[in-house]
Amino acid sequence: MIAKLLSRWPLIRQIRTGADGTGPEAMSARTRNLLPKTHEAQVARSICPYCGVGCGQLIYHKAGKLVSIEGDPQSPISRGHLCPKGADTFELHTHVARLDKVKYRRPYSRKWEELELEKAMDMVADRVWESRERTFQEKIDGELAMQTKAIAHLGGATLDIEENYLIKKLFTAGLGMVCLSNQARI
Ligand code: SF4
Repeated sequence: MIAKLLSRWPLIRQIRTGADGTGPEAMSARTRNLLPKTHEAQVARSICPYCGVGCGQLIYHKAGKLVSIEGDPQSPISRGHLCPKGADTFELHTHVARLDKVKYRRPYSRKWEELELEKAMDMVADRVWESRERTFQEKIDGELAMQTKAIAHLGGATLDIEENYLIKKLFTAGLGMVCLSNQARI
């Protein structure tokens, strides 16, 4: 009985096997049967949304629910690694404090109010158009300009080449905006 009890003690198993105490000899019956949270989850490949490095991520999901986000070992850029910000992308989606409603503070107000997304988008479009109409310069010093410097656009680092191309076409050719840049350049 005592010998059986002793054999369950990790130190005895380590002495017996000559192992270094980091392998199966250190496991209890419970830890031996533990499974990773990604067990039987489906996985999709993606890219970290935070910065221009574009580290690869594996998005694990089960029954339509996000389970985990981890570094992608097959990414030639990051080879499975994520910085602390990228490693916390899971909480970007799941944290209870995440805002999922548009917040709007009227001029001179001290309070935030919630808006429907569609209404907020209409308000942004109205303000962009009003600024463009108010500041558009057809000529500068007699030279043709057709531009406004009153509106600027800063793109996100994970926008791809095609998206940046369309943004430039829409904002410069469509509205005359000349102040355009991208976070990946900063
Ligand atoms: S993991 Fe870090 S370094 Fe990589 S893309 Fe995300 S924020 Fe940038």
